[in-house]
Amino acid sequence: MSNSKKIMCVNAGSSSIKFKLYEMDEKASLAKTIAEKSQYCKALCSGLVERIGHEDARCIIKKPDGSKSEKVLPIHNHDEGVQLVLKGLIEEKIVASLDEIQGVGNRVVQGGKYFSDAHVFDQYTYDRIEELIPLDPLHAEAHLTCFNAFKKALPMVGEVAVFDTAFHQTMEPKEYMYAIPYEWYEKYACRRYGAHGTSHKYLSQFAKEKYFADKEHVNIITCHIGSGASVSAVKDGKCIATSMGLTPLAGVMMGTRTGDIDPSCMPYLCTCTGKSADEIYDIYNHHSGLEGVSGISNDTRDVEAEYYKGNERAILAMDMYASRIAEYIMMYYGKLGHVDMIVCSAGVFENSPIYRKMAFDNVEEALGVKIDEKLNEEKVRGQWGLISTPDSKIPVAVIPTDEELMICLDTARILGL
Ligand code: ADP
Repeated sequence: MSNSKKIMCVNAGSSSIKFKLYEMDEKASLAKTIAEKSQYCKALCSGLVERIGHEDARCIIKKPDGSKSEKVLPIHNHDEGVQLVLKGLIEEKIVASLDEIQGVGNRVVQGGKYFSDAHVFDQYTYDRIEELIPLDPLHAEAHLTCFNAFKKALPMVGEVAVFDTAFHQTMEPKEYMYAIPYEWYEKYACRRYGAHGTSHKYLSQFAKEKYFADKEHVNIITCHIGSGASVSAVKDGKCIATSMGLTPLAGVMMGTRTGDIDPSCMPYLCTCTGKSADEIYDIYNHHSGLEGVSGISNDTRDVEAEYYKGNERAILAMDMYASRIAEYIMMYYGKLGHVDMIVCSAGVFENSPIYRKMAFDNVEEALGVKIDEKLNEEKVRGQWGLISTPDSKIPVAVIPTDEELMICLDTARILGL
């Protein structure tokens, strides 16, 4: 590439670091659409450090040609994990020197009310994320640790925080407020923040550019349905409503999360089971949803296989899953007034015709949405395009999401690269 920059995109968890290194041509900043920009951003490698803190941790680096290097060794903390990744980039000849890396973009789950866009990862950003630790302890601490690890390893390189909540900051108070005593909002900032914002932004922008380039006002419902799942209503490029809440537990039913549930279930279940609120909360997050109801798995493929065998719990779980997504689509249709397009994305909705079909069957009569079976079968594994019939009242498209690309572009924009 002519004049290019290398940007590292990082997604840190409490015991893992996922990463993708991009080479971005300067033409990317001048390109108008995301699709054009993506043509100037080449992924040089991606990878993962997992089981940090264990003796048998792993560091994997994958190249675009499909080859990969994998090391199993003790990795005690994120500092060591980052050092290994950077050493691996040189060993694998992905970069000749670490000086080639000019920016690091960090995905940050929770930006609270403070960030409506990506931001330089400076002391202000650091302090705000630290302040927000009680909202999301596992992720927030991992983001700070990973930021520090890169700062130590690459002291001259600018870092950016790209917040999963930022895109949802345009919601009005009537959308983000909970009906709880107002001082709990004032004192503890207890409200809806949403998540997957980077994905919803990408999807709504991509859909607008591809299908409605000349239309001024465009309303889109974006369905990010993966192991975590959320639905958003986007009006003229701005999020007006989203299904996740204070945390990603709320909204539609997910792989292991409950989605919306009557808050009274918590004290009732504590009494019935003798478990603590923390234990029940852990089950709400990690053993509910498709896994909890089906008793099979959190993976939609396993549940689907049992569905075809007539397993009643699998059928119930999939019916519930489809129905909850349809409820949000209908609610957001109501809020938006009219809808120009519904977008399907993330692991489940990019790959599974039956989960899509079941959800849209639930809205066919009310919204006049009709799915073309052949197109629906075809649009899997990275294929994008319409899956609705020409007479569907609202077109439905599959668009594979690309959060890393957005992090790369935001990092370059904020650092002025
Ligand atoms: P996350 O990023 O939240 O970890 P993804 O968006 O990658 O999740 O989604 C992962 C989920 O997508 C898997 O748990 C599985 O349920 C589902 N999935 C992936 N591929 C397929 C497929 N071919 N058919 C059905 N479901 C799939």
